[in-house]
Amino acid sequence: MAISVAVDLAPFNTLALPGKAARYLKITAAEQLADPALAAERRFILGGGGNLVLTGDFDGLLLHMAIPGRRLLSEDREAWYVEAGAGENWHDFVQWTLAQGWPGLENLSLIPGTVGAAPIQNIGAYGLEVGERLHSLTAWDFARRACVSFDRVGCRFGYRDSLFKQQGWHLNGRLAITNVVFRLPKVWAANIQYGEVAGELADIATPTASDVAAAVVAIRRRKLPDPAVTPNAGSFFHNPLVTSAAAAALKEKYPALPCHPQPDGRVKLAAGWLIEQAGWKGKALGPVGMYEKQALVLVNHGGASGADVRRAMLAVQAAVREKFGLELSPEPVFL
Ligand code: NAP
Repeated sequence: MAISVAVDLAPFNTLALPGKAARYLKITAAEQLADPALAAERRFILGGGGNLVLTGDFDGLLLHMAIPGRRLLSEDREAWYVEAGAGENWHDFVQWTLAQGWPGLENLSLIPGTVGAAPIQNIGAYGLEVGERLHSLTAWDFARRACVSFDRVGCRFGYRDSLFKQQGWHLNGRLAITNVVFRLPKVWAANIQYGEVAGELADIATPTASDVAAAVVAIRRRKLPDPAVTPNAGSFFHNPLVTSAAAAALKEKYPALPCHPQPDGRVKLAAGWLIEQAGWKGKALGPVGMYEKQALVLVNHGGASGADVRRAMLAVQAAVREKFGLELSPEPVFL
């Protein structure tokens, strides 16, 4: 097993924060994970590094999930079942499914990261969450020293949430997702419930899945910074979910407040709007700021450390708390 030592992690996190892993191993096949030597020490399991705040050096073993592969597993009258390795690039995988004529993931185009990381925070955008299309996944469980499978219900998906986050298994390196199977229904309708997507497609009478993907890509390219140019970790805060009474009270004070009622009776508020109103859109503290075109995205303007990110995060949280009395919680994992 080719474990490397003192590996620079800056290229492996999209915020480009500095830090080294004491030990590093690239995983390209699930079988590698069964080696007893890997079970012995503190681990962190890394996908695309797009949801990570590196706070310094990591004094453990970093397992970089790079398992490749994508294939049609089976199909029945109702759906295609498509499998991908955890290391596949998410956007490339989505575009590949569309090219094969299997729609269903198009609203999640251009989300940075890997297939294996997608279920952990139940990535979502423009009215679709990955959990809605996930059939099952396979993982290596370091505690049980066994390969385990979870179906969709077993993943306990929530809003940007899953069993793997709830149990702390992702953060403590207990479980490494190796493969994911998606169920893509053959009966398809364009999901254009989000106004921006509908607006982008206004000139097309009956948009195809590829049209929806192109619209999402165009919107995201306009609003979101490319991590290769401006390092960032996508949406930095969760959208707060509040009671309907709390939302109504805020709406009275701030009539422009965007409110999205949820099936469970709560109301989703837009964290980006709250941050903008609190004066943080385009504002920076040292080398870290909130992006000028989308206040929900925290960016590294150059040379930032994990401590700089934490400082800016606390300042944004304080500003939103002071203005709205709301707590913003960060989406990325801190290591
Ligand atoms: P936006 O259009 O400015 O809207 C702000 C928020 O309002 C969004 O976060 C979205 O919540 C919610 N929203 C808007 N229209 C809605 C509708 N019709 N029904 C229910 N909720 C609605 O949003 P944005 O910040 O540019 O983001 C657009 C989409 O891309 C969102 O879905 C967002 O989650 C996603 N996105 C994800 C990332 C990431 O890193 N994961 C980064 C940027 C954007 P939801 O977030 O719950 O959809």
